[in-house]
Amino acid sequence: MGAAKTKTEHAVVIAGGGPTGLMLAGELALASVDVAIVERRASQELAGSRAGGLHSRSIEVLDQRGIADRFLAEGQTFGVAHFHIPLDISDFPTRHNYGLGLWQNHIERILAGWVGELPVTIHRGCEVTGFAQDDTGVDVALSDGHSLRAEYLVGCDGGRSLIRKVAGIEFPGSDPTVSNLIAEVEVAEQPKLGIHRNEFGVHGFGRLNYEIRNGEVVFMDGGPLRVMVTERQVGTGSEPTLRDLSEALIDIYGTDYGIHSPTWISRFTDMTRQAASYRQGRVLLAGDAAHVHYPAGGQGLNLGMQDAVNLGWKLARVIRKTSPESLLDSYHAERHPVAAIALRNTMALVALLRTDDRSNALRETMSELLGMDAPRKRFAAHMSGLGIHYDLGEGHPLLGRRMPDLDLVTANGPLRVFTLLHDARPVLLNLGEPGGFDISPWADRVRLIDAGFDGVWELPVLGAVPAPGAVLIRPDGYVAWVGDSTQPGLVDALTNWLGPPAAA
Ligand SMILES: Cc1cc2nc3c(=O)[nH]c(=O)nc-3n(C[C@H](O)[C@H](O)[C@H](O)COP(=O)(O)OP(=O)(O)OC[C@H]3O[C@@H](n4cnc5c(N)ncnc54)[C@H](O)[C@@H]3O)c2cc1C
Repeated sequence: MGAAKTKTEHAVVIAGGGPTGLMLAGELALASVDVAIVERRASQELAGSRAGGLHSRSIEVLDQRGIADRFLAEGQTFGVAHFHIPLDISDFPTRHNYGLGLWQNHIERILAGWVGELPVTIHRGCEVTGFAQDDTGVDVALSDGHSLRAEYLVGCDGGRSLIRKVAGIEFPGSDPTVSNLIAEVEVAEQPKLGIHRNEFGVHGFGRLNYEIRNGEVVFMDGGPLRVMVTERQVGTGSEPTLRDLSEALIDIYGTDYGIHSPTWISRFTDMTRQAASYRQGRVLLAGDAAHVHYPAGGQGLNLGMQDAVNLGWKLARVIRKTSPESLLDSYHAERHPVAAIALRNTMALVALLRTDDRSNALRETMSELLGMDAPRKRFAAHMSGLGIHYDLGEGHPLLGRRMPDLDLVTANGPLRVFTLLHDARPVLLNLGEPGGFDISPWADRVRLIDAGFDGVWELPVLGAVPAPGAVLIRPDGYVAWVGDSTQPGLVDALTNWLGPPAAA
């Protein structure tokens, strides 16, 4: 640790203000936790457009906080998730049965706007350079010579995470087998837009401005060209040059189209690694800091935002001492398997993108399989995030799954379930006889709502499920208990998730 000149205290310090760090800061602030982000970039501006959008479950998560409309207003919706081939999700029972095409720089801008409305401290243009944890907290060293003291430090500092490395958390997985250059450039000569293949892989040209018309992407004139090429040899390093891109284009097309004036050139690979543990004492990891993989299928940003939403309320409860520290272990237990499936899927996608005869045959076979209803739904549920099932034990199919955004009827009029989650607090939803529940020892921690719902309870992939008498909904929108007013298991669930009952 460098010499600390001053030491400011926060309950949580987040290293990195990308999509994961921003989402986590918002979640913590909603739970009234004193949180600070330390972000290397001087502003939220992102060099390059990077990720292409949000999947259905991420849009739902934003809807749970009442901010989905901000994103929907700026993007283009499309009724599919991709597992190499487009998988129709228009029949999934959700209000958001589509993906949203919206570049990451816009996603970050909108998220930062939301965070700006909440009490979050952001130290911009400043890096975390190290930390040391003890029994009561973490000393966080900053590049400007200052030091912060936090009860918890969360590394949302991307794939090369310093926090992960300093914590000594293993990052097992596999080295790259393929690399791509991606860039935004001007050209002297217009290439054919769209996806192209040759013997060493898939390449593409597009424009940042596009519209979806009849399910097809239609590029708009003007603005920079987005170029993506597969390199003949696996490239190393993350800072390729215009010359590297020019050579790669000539390798593939025999011309570099007179590329010039790049605003962004980057390299990504299919290196696939996942942190062995998402927590080490008072240090946690989320987003790319915890998992890296090939971007095909558009999973990374979505995983990171949902890591944040899983972690935020748990960390808040532990900090407020309403729940024991062991609640934090459920973060790894729930989110590690979700990312492990995503990593497996992206590795399969890399194999499907190869262009040799056998890979072509495999792709055709997969396309045939995914054209069938059950496989389509299963993989679309993976890619969209709607199929996430946290292992909360045996029981009703809703247990551990996302609570659907039902149109409820209450004594005060109609009510959407997701509006109950705007303030990120847990809800006990009684769908049986009004007044049938007594949860007074937890009244300060969970809101009890009496409501009716006459429709069909339907979940993605599973279809119709039996109507529950009552559900306990966690702040992240997942169902923690299902039962009725006889209340078996409810006290355990409330204690487990929200802490022991308040003394009478
Ligand atoms: C070409 C491409 C296309 C992609 N397409 C998609 C897609 O369509 N959908 C999708 O979901 N994902 C996609 N991804 C992945 C997505 O971009 C990442 O998963 C996402 O950015 C991860 O967010 P994050 O906040 O965890 O990490 P990052 O976005 O990497 O943010 C980390 C932040 O931490 C800061 N930082 C780093 N170190 C420090 C430090 N020591 N101190 C302070 N600050 C620090 C960085 O400046 C950065 O702002 C794509 C990625 C690429 C490269």
